[in-house]
Amino acid sequence: MVIEVYEKEKQELLDICLEMVKHDLVIGSSGNASMRMGEHVVISPSSVHYTEMTIEDVVVIDLDGNEIEGTRNPSVETPMHLEIYKNREDALAVVHTHSVYASSMAALHKPLPPILDEIVSKLGAGIRVSKYAMPGTKQLGINVVKVLQDRSAALIANHGSVCVAKTLKDALFLSILFERACKIYLTAKQAGEPIELPEDVVEDEQDIWEMMKDF
Ligand SMILES: [Zn+2]
Repeated sequence: MVIEVYEKEKQELLDICLEMVKHDLVIGSSGNASMRMGEHVVISPSSVHYTEMTIEDVVVIDLDGNEIEGTRNPSVETPMHLEIYKNREDALAVVHTHSVYASSMAALHKPLPPILDEIVSKLGAGIRVSKYAMPGTKQLGINVVKVLQDRSAALIANHGSVCVAKTLKDALFLSILFERACKIYLTAKQAGEPIELPEDVVEDEQDIWEMMKDF
């Protein structure tokens, strides 16, 4: 069955993948991105360098991972994308990166504490690290969903990061924001011990996150 109705979405995905490269969040074909369109998911292909990727390389799958359209294999992290879509109704786009600072945190199994105002209201009150699982496995997806609860971002142990949002553009923006926050945290850590926001502020900002996630 061929459904050629996602041309616009495929182009958007392609553009976002190139932005991921431009912002130094990934290199080559590492990381991946997808957007949910009802019962279908438009996702980046496996093993195609983003700078060489064309709209024909983008894959459409259903929520069980069956290929609906495309000539390539979908991203190796497809099981994680599907686990997220099945468990987070508010997530309509997923961006997964191997960016330097977030991956450093992931290598340390170090959660990002709530140290910056803009981070808590946009990503949630402290970003957790998932339990380790092999790349490409359903278990990795299950572990990620667990720590992604009430948050827009998660660190994937010994691997990288993932951000979810209503749109791909927003998921990319959150990935850039998250990478910057990890950089700030690790930089501050070298000069001393970063101070967490007051508890009541964290609670208020988490409420703002809760409100904003549905817009
Ligand atoms: Zn990865």
